[in-house]
Amino acid sequence: MTPDRAALGWRHAPALPAATRPRTPDGRPLKITFGEMREMGLSGVLVFCPDYRCSHSLRLPADRWADEVRLSDIEPRFVCAGCGNRGADVRPDFESGKPPQFAKAAAN
Ligand SMILES: [Zn+2]
Repeated sequence: MTPDRAALGWRHAPALPAATRPRTPDGRPLKITFGEMREMGLSGVLVFCPDYRCSHSLRLPADRWADEVRLSDIEPRFVCAGCGNRGADVRPDFESGKPPQFAKAAAN
């Protein structure tokens, strides 16, 4: 049996510094999978243009991606329709779920 972190008293440990967070091979932060997102009760993603001057964004249903795909996996596939920039910032669309249920699920 693997002891969990809370049992070892890690509950109050500070969050990991950004530099030690898992990253994709090209240096982007590794994001959650669509399966994890659906467990939170969320059914959509928001795709943002990486260029803040453009700030083009798109709301997409997440049902086209498999559970094991990470949000960070699909980011390089997007090309902005506004400015032509390649690579997007993909985030869970919290408005596609129900926030109170999400908060409960995350605590488990
Ligand atoms: Zn753009």
